[in-house]
Amino acid sequence: MDQRRVAGVGNIYANEALFRAGIDPSRRADRLTRRDYEALFGAIRSVLGDAVAARGTTVRDYRTGTGQRGSFQAGLAVYGRGGEPCVRCGTTLTTTHAIDGRATTWCWRCQHARSGRQT
Ligand SMILES: [Zn+2]
Repeated sequence: MDQRRVAGVGNIYANEALFRAGIDPSRRADRLTRRDYEALFGAIRSVLGDAVAARGTTVRDYRTGTGQRGSFQAGLAVYGRGGEPCVRCGTTLTTTHAIDGRATTWCWRCQHARSGRQT
């Protein structure tokens, strides 16, 4: 199995799960509350469930924009959408490589306002 491909796919799902859970991706994992973890695990399950239902994400096609596209990328809310409007609030999505060296795209409004405030 191609580890880079797997890591890349994992990164997509991580981006999507953090968005669905409303968690700021720059937060340290050890600072997350139990409620954050529960939201995140629920989000990961829902993202993976959607991906399976859509028969996976055709990463290569998605990145190049050529060939036949798979179906899950049509449901991506943040990954690969830096600079585009957030599907939830319309704020321009931000892409950073500062967190773990890979592309992380997120909405500062949806994934920041809830951090640490909602208990
Ligand atoms: Zn948003």
